[in-house]
Amino acid sequence: MNDEVEVVCPVCSPKIAVPHDVLKGGQNPVVQCQECENVHPTKIEKVKTFNVKVIISKGEESFTQTTILTSEEDLMVEDEIIVDDGESDEVFPILITAIESGEKRLKKANASEITTIWGRAIDEVVVKIAVHKGRNTEAMHKRVPGGYEFIIGQEEKVDKTKIRIKKIKIRDGSLESKTGIAIPAKFIKRIFAEEVFRKSWGEGKTQWSMKGKGKGW
Ligand SMILES: [Zn+2]
Repeated sequence: MNDEVEVVCPVCSPKIAVPHDVLKGGQNPVVQCQECENVHPTKIEKVKTFNVKVIISKGEESFTQTTILTSEEDLMVEDEIIVDDGESDEVFPILITAIESGEKRLKKANASEITTIWGRAIDEVVVKIAVHKGRNTEAMHKRVPGGYEFIIGQEEKVDKTKIRIKKIKIRDGSLESKTGIAIPAKFIKRIFAEEVFRKSWGEGKTQWSMKGKGKGW
């Protein structure tokens, strides 16, 4: 059984799912938030998945792939997504140029309605980051090249916030938490991080940390 799930926490993260330990499974699961240790009941929902055809243009060529989407996903023309068939090692970041639902072309559709996605290959991806700040969790994003590696335990700058990466949810659904593991951006579903408030002494990066601090120094 699952011993770790991502669900919302009524205390510290009512909107964004964050990692929880499952204390009791079954019909009425009880979980404990890894951020604030609040114990609460939850619903662990089963999402449907769909294999959707994607036609990707790259320069002069175009090729066909499939991607796995879930019933939770609504897509729009101009959205950036990562095409991932869940089997091969290769994934393709694209910009959606058209969405087909049967005979119709839609500007916006739920994954369940889509028959074909048309897209243009792009090099950069937007990585979602859930940042635990004090008592709240905030959704942030960072745009990076698809091959850019995020390393668990390391610090990153997102806009003006300095964060430390704690866990990385990978596209295949697994959750990595081992310090030092590096994962390329294009394979990441979500990063879980905490805000870095002050430098930790003895890490040998004092000057750099102070520089990154901004106001108040
Ligand atoms: Zn919590």
